[in-house]
Amino acid sequence: MKFTIVSGKITNVIRKFSLNFSYFYNLKLIILKKTISLFTFLIIGFCSFAQSYSPDSVIKSSHNYADTLLSYRNFYNNSTKSNTISIQHSDTLSSENGRNIDLYSFGKADSCIFIIGGIHGNEPSGIELAGIIINYLKLSDDQKFKYKVLVMPIANPDGVALNTRQNANGVDLNRNWDTKNFKEGKLNSKKGFYGGKMPFSERETRNIKSIIDFYKPFLIITLHAPYQCINYDGPAYSYAKLISNLMKFPIKSDLGYKIYGSLGIYYGLERNIPVVTVELPAKTKQWELYKLGLLKILGSK
Ligand SMILES: [Zn+2]
Repeated sequence: MKFTIVSGKITNVIRKFSLNFSYFYNLKLIILKKTISLFTFLIIGFCSFAQSYSPDSVIKSSHNYADTLLSYRNFYNNSTKSNTISIQHSDTLSSENGRNIDLYSFGKADSCIFIIGGIHGNEPSGIELAGIIINYLKLSDDQKFKYKVLVMPIANPDGVALNTRQNANGVDLNRNWDTKNFKEGKLNSKKGFYGGKMPFSERETRNIKSIIDFYKPFLIITLHAPYQCINYDGPAYSYAKLISNLMKFPIKSDLGYKIYGSLGIYYGLERNIPVVTVELPAKTKQWELYKLGLLKILGSK
């Protein structure tokens, strides 16, 4: 009897224990399942976030230049952290055909570097690298950089839309500067180096000049393609050397043809402002390397 009672008690204890155990066991299982699904949700969420903010997704998504222009602009505008400041001079930045030209400004330092992409509309790699730099700077802490950085990713949006080197008027914007050796050249010449009827005849050239006159950058970097080398004008050798080492492109003082009326001659040779021309490949996957090459110059702390 005692035994039975005891046995009953024991049975009760065991039953209670097993009930409790299965309750806790089930509870643990539920918590485990919830945790796994929460992590899965977070991982999927993070991946799709990273995907939507990866510059590569923008580069891959566009197949023609008008789309490139559009998707880059949407991409910049949709980015989460915006520390773009408005342009503090009176000129409206637009092209001969009335397309808006974007200018991004990062950091508050007085010393300023100006990066220009897409002066030639059929050289998308410079636009892409400018886009990658903008994206990086947007997500970075301003304090991380010693210098103010201005980026104009697409200086020639009409040329990008038309897939031409020149702008909508057939002018090569890198031959339209008021240098001592300015040459009008021939419109519709095969090489497409037409400098325009007179220096600064084109709105896009005047845009760049107005930014430089206003912000007075101590270094101008222009992004071109496809020669895979670093070219420089004026007192820019040390910057050219650093970029050359980081990007693994040789420095070439001569691209093999005579240049008239270029931005490099105007600011570098005739005004002593260092100008580095980065000649990227026409197509590349080395964005990370090129990005680091430019970030080093930006004075990353
Ligand atoms: Zn070019």
